[in-house]
Amino acid sequence: MADTTDEQNATAQDANLGPGPASSNLGDARIAAAIAAARYHGADLDGSAFRAAPGEKVPSALTMVSWLRESGLWAKATRLTWKNLVRVSDGAPVMLFFTDGGAGMLVGADPKRNVIWLKDPLAPPGEQPVAVDELRLSQVWKGEAILVRKARGQEIEEPRFNLRWLFKLVLREKTAMRDIAIGSVTLSALTIIPPLLVMTVINRVVVHHSMNTLALISLIILIGVIYEMFLTHARRELLQVLSARLDTRINLTMFDRLLALPIDFFERTTTGETMYRLNQIWRIREFITGRLLTTFLDLFTVFMLLPILFWLDATLSWMVLGGSVVIALIIAAFLPGLGLLQAKVSAAESQKGTIIAETVYGIRTVKTLALEPARKSLWDEAVADAGRKRLEMGRLSSWPQTLILPFERFIERGVLLVGAFIALNDSSGVQIGALIAFMLLGGRLAHPLVSMARLLEEFEQVRASVDEVGHVLNNPTETKALTQGVRPKLLSEISFEDVTFTYPTGKMPALDRVGFTVPAGTMLGVVGRSGSGKSTLTRLLQGINREYSGFVKIDGAELREINLTHLRRSLGVVLQDNFLFRGTVRDNIIANRPGLTLEDAIRSARLAGAEEFIERLPAGYDTQIEEGSSNLSGGQKQRLAIARALISDPKLLILDEATSALDPESEALVNANLQRIAKGRTMIIVSHRLSSLVDCDQILVLDKGKVEDCAPHHVLVERCAVYRQLWMQQHRHMQGPGRPGLAPVLAQGD
Ligand code: ATP
Ligand code: MG
Repeated sequence: MADTTDEQNATAQDANLGPGPASSNLGDARIAAAIAAARYHGADLDGSAFRAAPGEKVPSALTMVSWLRESGLWAKATRLTWKNLVRVSDGAPVMLFFTDGGAGMLVGADPKRNVIWLKDPLAPPGEQPVAVDELRLSQVWKGEAILVRKARGQEIEEPRFNLRWLFKLVLREKTAMRDIAIGSVTLSALTIIPPLLVMTVINRVVVHHSMNTLALISLIILIGVIYEMFLTHARRELLQVLSARLDTRINLTMFDRLLALPIDFFERTTTGETMYRLNQIWRIREFITGRLLTTFLDLFTVFMLLPILFWLDATLSWMVLGGSVVIALIIAAFLPGLGLLQAKVSAAESQKGTIIAETVYGIRTVKTLALEPARKSLWDEAVADAGRKRLEMGRLSSWPQTLILPFERFIERGVLLVGAFIALNDSSGVQIGALIAFMLLGGRLAHPLVSMARLLEEFEQVRASVDEVGHVLNNPTETKALTQGVRPKLLSEISFEDVTFTYPTGKMPALDRVGFTVPAGTMLGVVGRSGSGKSTLTRLLQGINREYSGFVKIDGAELREINLTHLRRSLGVVLQDNFLFRGTVRDNIIANRPGLTLEDAIRSARLAGAEEFIERLPAGYDTQIEEGSSNLSGGQKQRLAIARALISDPKLLILDEATSALDPESEALVNANLQRIAKGRTMIIVSHRLSSLVDCDQILVLDKGKVEDCAPHHVLVERCAVYRQLWMQQHRHMQGPGRPGLAPVLAQGD
């Protein structure tokens, strides 16, 4: 038994620091450098908590940066030159990563002597830094450095997800935007030229029969076409790049934010609703890189066209402008109504999303209880509702389009008629060529103006979508708790002091002045009727619900002050129903934790009593687990979950009815292993089956959120009436002939 723990430690170390002793020292230097840099900024890092990425012999700059960031510091991997180094002035250490895998700490520089002061991170404390010149440094260092700073509280940047944020995101792409703008201006110029050429053709070639001019114009047109071809291609290319980049940015931010939301957010909101809302992000992306950008680009055309139109004919130009203003006004008048309807459509669609997600998620229940008709009628209603609202919206949005049509045509063609009228009445007036040029160009003006008006219409939809996405992403995240807070070494003495907790939606407290202590390394059993607060107690320990009064302390540190990531990494939790990801058995046990190998997976599977069945699976540890783990039995799934919880060797293990779903045989197997599993850790076992808790050091009896008693089994049987009653009930049942696996009365609730 002792071997197991030792072995586990040994592998963890190896995984951290690479295989050989030499590289292990180098890796040590990098970790020590990070710890020293963090200490300079007042943060205490635990070197043993560092895990290298798989396949890394020494920690890379990126791995190091993410570790530092996880620890609540600001860190950045960068490339520096000697010149940068000698100018370092604020005294904060800079980590230099050497090419051989080692590291040094830059602690100062002397520009006059052209040397820097380097400290060996592994040197004993008190040793003086050494002066190093450019030549000597260049032999081991090629510019890789990490800057570390203290992250100020307000620096945990959580901008609200809204239109401003999106526009800022777009504006950050300065180079791409500039190139696209240049391309567009040139293109607009190119689109203006042909009508002017037509004008010339008519005025000169047709009227004066000039063959030479025709040849010249043909050449110009040819060159123009070639230019246009290249430019439009380049512009499209740039647009693609820009939208791909925006897409990536938006997606990364969205997922980061989503993961930082606390669990209770997901419990409050239906999956379908959340999914539907997040899906709206595609519409936003499409709007920005589609309509918004092209309209914006078309505006260039407007600005270039106007002076030319006025040069051709002022009266006609005013008419075109007048027509455009009317179009804009018509659309603006419809916007508020459209906005309202859009909100209704979104609500109806989100309702549909909820029904679909819930049905797919609960399809087993739907099928086995033959609930299809009920679900169908729910769906029918939602579809009809959404259809009605869409129709309403579509009808309303078709009106402005109908109303603007005459004005659009007026700009494109009516102006020609008016122009002809003017030309007929005034012989010195508009030339026929200019008139035709005006007609061609006027049409080009109408297009961007109309599309701008459409933009406003679409904008209303997108604003709704941004609200939808923001509805999910702008919830308070737990980022602060995840990245800040103390990181004590947790050996896991747990104490609850006068803890009272009420769920935000609950009336009665789920825990009522609860107090008890679990010494480190012991096993606590928790029993009580259904709804007595057992799971709530474990939720508080995992930091899921943090709005309790009183104190929950782990090794003397109040839980709310402990860094959440650190806390959850130090915990193993197995619930009654556990989610396994699609992938192999091994992947599920390791769950992507860096630095762990198949040996670790096998060891924890053995500890969890899962080894025997995994070996009987068709491909052993490489067997694929299907979605919803449909190819595993409940008990097998449960043992895998236990193995997964054990792999990181947590000092505190919480089992919340982890064995309730097991058949007596597997339960006996797990229970037999419990003593082994418990070695070296604190365990909290919530169970309805009292027989599996008999060996616990203490058993906590909860009733309606209050502590009824807390003592070992033999004491409780003597003195605690509630416990004795439960015990008697179960004992009778378990004695019943031929009914060995009968679930205890407790499981059915009271
Ligand atoms: P069981 O043995 O059935 O698992 P339990 O002892 O684990 O029961 P808890 O889940 O801790 O009971 O629930 C305690 C009380 O808190 C119950 O009255 C329950 O209705 C309420 N409750 C539990 N979870 C939530 C939640 N997410 N939101 C609101 N109330 C909750
Ligand atoms: Mg429970």
